[in-house]
Amino acid sequence: MQNLTDMGLNELELLMRDLGQPKFRARQVFEWIQKGVRPGGMSNLPAALRERLSSMLWGGAEIHTKRISKKDGTIKYLFKLEDGNLIEGVLMSNRYGNTLCLSTQVGCAMGCAFCASTLEGCVRNLSCGEMLSQVSEVEKDVPHEEGASRTVTNIVLMGSGEPLANFEQTVKFIRLVSAPEGMNISPRNISLSTCGLVPEILRLITEAQHVTLSISLHAPNNGIRSGLMPINRRYPIEQVIGAAREYAEKTGRRVIFEYALIKGVNCERAHAEELSDILHGINCHVNLIPLNHVKERGLEGIGRKEAHVFAAWLQERGISASVRREMGADIEGACGQLRRSILQNDIG
Ligand code: SAH
Repeated sequence: MQNLTDMGLNELELLMRDLGQPKFRARQVFEWIQKGVRPGGMSNLPAALRERLSSMLWGGAEIHTKRISKKDGTIKYLFKLEDGNLIEGVLMSNRYGNTLCLSTQVGCAMGCAFCASTLEGCVRNLSCGEMLSQVSEVEKDVPHEEGASRTVTNIVLMGSGEPLANFEQTVKFIRLVSAPEGMNISPRNISLSTCGLVPEILRLITEAQHVTLSISLHAPNNGIRSGLMPINRRYPIEQVIGAAREYAEKTGRRVIFEYALIKGVNCERAHAEELSDILHGINCHVNLIPLNHVKERGLEGIGRKEAHVFAAWLQERGISASVRREMGADIEGACGQLRRSILQNDIG
């Protein structure tokens, strides 16, 4: 049986037909689901239909814990899924609105050396409804500003998980959350971040071409990248860059490269030069992030001043680059950290 939160308008129309209901009910139900309202609260439906829908599976996420940063107001959420699994999300404010960073899997199988989300491997994929539900729970939790129609204006798929390893559900989520009858968040305001699954990057060109593609590069060559990211042994850096170039050319959209600066690993001038050479001619921007220290990992970041020097080396060579703002450092902003600290507290 399908979860209600996974259903698009078409599927709800079929369901209403099967239940002997008029077609317009599908849209009403869809609107409620997008607001995170369960069948019992769908007040414009007849009681019998509410009851029938209540007997179906919901399949959403609920807020389990939240921490608010005293520094910048960033909110880190831990959501509980119906099977008891925990996933993370982060809400950050900026001058354009509010960006929600959400998860696409419980854990992650990719094994990147600096990332806390992958320490226990991938437990399971999230359904599109579980992704949607992270957005609707945050909407219910944080009232929107006067004059605005919602709180979450932008979405980044940068929580735990590799979205392109959960391709179908991720693409369906993008469709659900951008539906004009629901939250209506334009794909242009959605960033999808990947460690570099080349065939799936190319599939995005036809299946989700309006999203902003972010590629976690973190290295200027195969030697360094394979040491940090096991996926590089399957799809070496030339193939990743080739797919990014094709994406940028075919969609007309600028590709973002994420580059975490790791002390003693990838932040010398020679690395900036090598990086500029491989990115030359691609419509792209490099997002530099001093690595967030993760307790369980031996790697360390560099200072923000040094990060700006690295950015200048790239800019000198004609590559657009900036240093990403650090948000929520006091509430364990880096991937996987909150979930791990809560899980460990639960155990200890
Ligand atoms: N699997 C996807 C999305 C999740 S990770 C991906 O690999 O892109 C989101 C971003 O955070 C990625 O760029 C990832 O490399 C980065 N990241 C993970 N751990 C980090 C850390 N300790 N410090 C800084 N960035 C980190």
